[in-house]
Amino acid sequence: MTITENIAAQRSAAIYSEKIFPREVRGRFQSLRSICVYLLLGAYYLLPWVQWGERQAVLFDLPARKFHIFMLTFWPQDFYLLSLLLIMAGIALFFFTAIAGRVWCGYACPQTVWTEIFIWMERWVEGSRAQQIKLASSPWTFNKLRKRIIKQVLWVSFALLTGLTFVGYFMPIRQLLLDAATFELAGWSLFWVLFYSFATYGNAGFLREQVCKYMCPYARFQSAMFDRDTLIVAYDQNRGEPRSRGKKRKQTAAAPKGDCVDCGLCVQVCPTGIDIREGLQYECIACAACIDVCNNVMDSVAQPRDLIRYSTEAVDSGQQSRLPQLLLRPRVLTYAVILMALIAAFGSALLLRATMQVDVLRDRNTFYRMTSQGIVENTFQIRIMNKSQIEQRYHIAIHELTGASVSWSSPHKNIASAAVAPGEIGDLIATVSIPADRLNSRAQKISFMISETLGPRPTSIAEESRFWGPTPQADGGTR
Ligand code: SF4
Ligand code: SF4
Repeated sequence: MTITENIAAQRSAAIYSEKIFPREVRGRFQSLRSICVYLLLGAYYLLPWVQWGERQAVLFDLPARKFHIFMLTFWPQDFYLLSLLLIMAGIALFFFTAIAGRVWCGYACPQTVWTEIFIWMERWVEGSRAQQIKLASSPWTFNKLRKRIIKQVLWVSFALLTGLTFVGYFMPIRQLLLDAATFELAGWSLFWVLFYSFATYGNAGFLREQVCKYMCPYARFQSAMFDRDTLIVAYDQNRGEPRSRGKKRKQTAAAPKGDCVDCGLCVQVCPTGIDIREGLQYECIACAACIDVCNNVMDSVAQPRDLIRYSTEAVDSGQQSRLPQLLLRPRVLTYAVILMALIAAFGSALLLRATMQVDVLRDRNTFYRMTSQGIVENTFQIRIMNKSQIEQRYHIAIHELTGASVSWSSPHKNIASAAVAPGEIGDLIATVSIPADRLNSRAQKISFMISETLGPRPTSIAEESRFWGPTPQADGGTR
């Protein structure tokens, strides 16, 4: 190696010494994490392709202000249900954190899941941890350039797929993909696809553990949800220390050695680059990679497993571990009760949710029209939202305004019927007429009765409005 190459290698090594190259590890917790990654990413990428009848099963249709989630359609009026859902998710996070610590971070957080995929791709192209470090600190050669280009192509493609899929939750994904394939994607759709692709690439490709360490607020306040009986990943100091390696490991009665062989593998596999032997640190995302690798080491030196293991502070300080102690704590019970109450409230609100909503809108441009025959006319727009999952037929009738007749966008006289598809809005225009001398005030109450005719529990809604006309005079005329 020439002096120039040597300097370049050192500079490169200095730059990359900041980057963490997690070592590959196998074990039961890593298998569990892989299953989580497959399930969560599988659900994320496949869900927008699932059809529910005529429509996409999960579609957050912002222009139409409707959220479709399988058989359910949420309208803006139902947003309290979505708020409830978010609160439930928050309390569930508190509940599981109180029991199992940062289990969310280690197994299900999108940051962890996508980073895992990006690390797999990097490993597939650049090789093992040692090979990656060597490549990072080596001068630029054709081979290095080739590997870097392949890695970037894979990362960018996967990030674009993620961005497209994300936007596919907000607009029909088949059309979106067709637009993308024919280079017709433009405007906001293009912006959001690129934005989420960039965010995926940046967070999972480059920032990685920095997001967990410095950007995620959860890491900061999680300690408030921890107590002495919360599960944490912990190193057994009593058993492991004093650690030693190589020749120093020769046990003597005068200087007994701990079980830790100081191989450093627990640090090498850690995605956040910490040494769990220094105690619990807020950077630990409880991925359990160090447990798996240490168990493998213990197997190879014929020592019992679980030098690093899931434990609790109480157990580490000598108390016996008991399941009731883990679950029947005031904090856990409080979260459980709140969660159950919220689930019950959400379930009942969902079941008792009205299957239709009606708005009666007056013609704002013209209060009333007077014909040459002395007839006063008002126009109303009746908007029916079918919140049920069946095509519904509605009967509409008017009440209160004696002597009035109605002409609908339907042939019947004082009654109209309208069919509205599930999750859709039906509009009906009603022109209500009454002889001017039958009016006894300038604004009279008029009531529209809208009734469902199909389904297991047909309901009716009465919607009131005002019928406007000229001011009646004492002599029976109008002004
Ligand atoms: S992997 Fe286990 S044996 Fe190796 S250094 Fe870590 S704690 Fe010690
Ligand atoms: S210390 Fe262990 S459990 Fe914590 S992040 Fe590192 S490898 Fe994962």
